[in-house]
Amino acid sequence: MKTPAYAAPSAKSPLAPFTVERREPGAHDVQIDIRYCGVCHSDIHQVRDEWGGSKFPMVPGHEIVGIVSRVGSHVSKWKVGDAVGVGCFVDSCRACEACREGEEQFCAEGMSATYNSFERKPGGGLDTTRPTYGGYSSRITVDENYVLRIPEGMPLDRAAPLLCAGITTYSPLRHFGVKAGDKVAVVGLGGLGHMAVKIAKAMGAHVTVLSHSTGKREDAQRLGADDFLVTKDAAVFKQNAGRFDFILDTVSAQHDYNDYLGLLRRDGTMVLVGVPDPTPVHAFSLIGGRKRLAGSLIGGIRETQEMLDFCAAHHVAADIELIPIQKINDAYERMIKGDVRYRFVIDIASLGQPV
Ligand code: NAP
Ligand code: ZN
Ligand code: ZN
Repeated sequence: MKTPAYAAPSAKSPLAPFTVERREPGAHDVQIDIRYCGVCHSDIHQVRDEWGGSKFPMVPGHEIVGIVSRVGSHVSKWKVGDAVGVGCFVDSCRACEACREGEEQFCAEGMSATYNSFERKPGGGLDTTRPTYGGYSSRITVDENYVLRIPEGMPLDRAAPLLCAGITTYSPLRHFGVKAGDKVAVVGLGGLGHMAVKIAKAMGAHVTVLSHSTGKREDAQRLGADDFLVTKDAAVFKQNAGRFDFILDTVSAQHDYNDYLGLLRRDGTMVLVGVPDPTPVHAFSLIGGRKRLAGSLIGGIRETQEMLDFCAAHHVAADIELIPIQKINDAYERMIKGDVRYRFVIDIASLGQPV
């Protein structure tokens, strides 16, 4: 099936129109007509090969929402017309300890990521002759077990960013046991950060935003934050030392983790989800106060569904700016400058109809 898309031909060139060949749905596959796709900073990192090993041509996009348009003969979970989502991976081994525990993102074989990766071979392992292509396209075919249900009533465009930004922030808040009354700091108010504020607030936490931008204070309060601190002012780190139980760091650019660890209370935890260039961590930043520095990677299918249902129950969805696909290169530049409130979402209708 020839499907219109946008691709980066190489790390140095802008995205441009491209055609992908989607597989015909197999017995366990669903075909999804994509309506919206969020633009994650990970798309930019990978398009620009900032993590190494990027595969081109690359069709990015892992915040996918659409409507089921065909189902394979053995599909039991979905029917034509269902509103569904696809996140950061489309397959995994299903047999390793992580997969059995519903944490497919840590699959021992390596998950089949939605783009910049390969489809799985029927017998196991990734098939390097079959690249995966993401949601900057009008249609995708996915195994029914890697598809999420968009709760009824949730606007589809504002739901799209939940498939990555939502789960990436929900998962560590849950895993590390953030609870009502906890003092939580969110570092960086971007796509992930603004979801973190909304979700932590819905969990009952007292939420502070730590931002390097001076102009986001009112937005932070509107999103639900109780406090807002500008980290350009070095005095902030002294004045707030030992204040937080939990810090979620969503920043995409290099910054000094040691400064932020100083803001944790005794036995506090700081979790990295942002992926900037490496920065040294001093042992003393952790030793004094028995602090923990951890990381977290998206979330499994079961937890992603739990997050979607949690967001629906708490009336949480992303704040978005809807763009046509033709504006994607400009959107990347604006994201790097921090000029987005707070997630670009591509209106896939702008790609034209699949043939
Ligand atoms: P984004 O929308 O561009 O937001 C990043 C935020 O970081 C900005 O809004 C800004 O917030 C802050 N920031 C940017 N440049 C900065 C600088 N020079 N110094 C200090 N702060 C700066 O990006 P995103 O889509 O939320 O993604 C954030 C990071 O998470 C990326 O590295 C992405 O690859 C990663 N990510 C990880 C996972 C995972 O599973 N772990 C999943 C998705 C994304 P302020 O203006 O408020 O400072
Ligand atoms: Zn992402
Ligand atoms: Zn596995």
